[in-house]
Amino acid sequence: MAIKKKGSGRRFGARYGKKLRDKVSEIEKKYKNRRLTCPYCTKQQVKRLSSGIWNCKACETKFTGKAYEI
Ligand SMILES: [Zn+2]
Repeated sequence: MAIKKKGSGRRFGARYGKKLRDKVSEIEKKYKNRRLTCPYCTKQQVKRLSSGIWNCKACETKFTGKAYEI
C-alpha cells in the first residue's frame, strides 16, 4: 500500500510522529511562498531571513520577531 504524505513536514519521514509533522507543515505554510506585512511601513515585503529574524525589503528594516511569525 502506498503511503501519501503532503506538506513540507514530509521531509521528516516517519519520524517525530504524525501530529508534529502536520503542525510543522501548517506553520511553514504560513511563511513560505508568502510575504508578511511590515509593522513599520505596512507593506507586504517582509521575508523571514532565519529563525526570529525578519527583513523588510521596502524600508530595509531588519527586526526580530517570533521564530515563525512576526
Ligand atoms: Zn517595512
